[in-house]
Amino acid sequence: MAVPVLSTAAAPQSQSIEAIRTGLGAGGTRVTVDLGMKSDFRAFHLANPYRIVLDLPSSKWVAAKSGLMSGGLIRAYRSGVLEGGITRVIFDLGRAATISNAVFLPKSSFEKNRVVIDLIPATANMFNARLPQVYGSREIRTPAPTPSQVSSQSSRPTSDAQMPIEDADVTGEITGTVKQREPLSSSRAPENRTAAPMSRKQTRKYVVVIDAGHGGEDPGALGRNGVVEKRITLTIAKELERQLSETGRYRAVLTRSTDKYIKLRERVAIAKRAKADLFISIHADKIGRTNVRGASIYTLSQNASDNETARLADQENNSGVVAGVDLANESQDVADILLDLAMREKMNESKLLAKYLDQAFRDKSIRLLPNSHRAAGFAVLKAPDVPAALIETGFLSNPEEAKLLSTSAFQRRIASAMVDGIDAYFRKIQALQKF
Ligand code: ZN
Repeated sequence: MAVPVLSTAAAPQSQSIEAIRTGLGAGGTRVTVDLGMKSDFRAFHLANPYRIVLDLPSSKWVAAKSGLMSGGLIRAYRSGVLEGGITRVIFDLGRAATISNAVFLPKSSFEKNRVVIDLIPATANMFNARLPQVYGSREIRTPAPTPSQVSSQSSRPTSDAQMPIEDADVTGEITGTVKQREPLSSSRAPENRTAAPMSRKQTRKYVVVIDAGHGGEDPGALGRNGVVEKRITLTIAKELERQLSETGRYRAVLTRSTDKYIKLRERVAIAKRAKADLFISIHADKIGRTNVRGASIYTLSQNASDNETARLADQENNSGVVAGVDLANESQDVADILLDLAMREKMNESKLLAKYLDQAFRDKSIRLLPNSHRAAGFAVLKAPDVPAALIETGFLSNPEEAKLLSTSAFQRRIASAMVDGIDAYFRKIQALQKF
């Protein structure tokens, strides 16, 4: 496994830990630690009980220093400061799980600098076999290190759980072995320290960002009898917002609530700012043949699943070029390593979402295209770490479907199918996170 080793020696400021989050990885759990700057890191396994350790240069905490996690294989994390200023984060595992991948990823338009660690379930033997292994760089270079810090660190590079911890008030629990894991007898009740984040997480509303395709100077597809895609998408988006809010389980955020043009990049940025759990983009299609009809659901892929799908992606993406957006640059932001690594987890979740949306459409007797779940390179789906689907609600080139999509009865029905699909998706995500 190739691990980039990045030096922080030239950087004058100190490192900061901005956020710690988990999600579904390929076959397991992905934990992402957002950082203020580029950084060395090292990660390794600790046994009895099963833990994963992440060491970083001395870091300020913007994120909470400890918390429970609803992310699959990881139950909680805690942190402390080692001698020499190393910031240590310990992830408590619910069961034996090993690191399948640990990398630093540099920041992009949508993502901060971050360390990404993928975990997969493992047997006790597999876990124990990994104990000597160190991921990342053995030596953690802190910004402007003192000579004593350098020697102190380089002389103890690996899984030394016994390293003394300075910040004992917050982190007494992690001084090492299983025997010391009882909470500190500090003034703060330890139950409260750990229980609060979980209950907040479980009771919070999921944030669904609803993106009405096109708008303003970009009308999208033009159908029969003056039916215009940008109006259809806005009406359905608003209906979906209404129905999602009504359940009490979701906070729905529209990328636009009026007839205005929004760049594709900005739509993705809105989802990031809203800390979206889900991103749904609503469109209506048009092709040369009037007899083709039915809805379809798209998730992101590097390669479109067929020519027709590639054509559609071009068509939707090019709506940005019309209004002067440079999509070549937009794609570049999320090229290569981002698509390879940061998006894999999201793509898995997006596929799950598409599966449940597809099923909900069938249950509500909404006509679908054959092979109704497709993959395409839609720019609007390229929001790393936000599971996303683009729904083509039907064909405006088909006279009947254009008419149907204009009726409020059908708009309510298709929105309610989307709610069903979204409900089923989150039920599944919650079940997967229980392990
Ligand atoms: Zn469209």
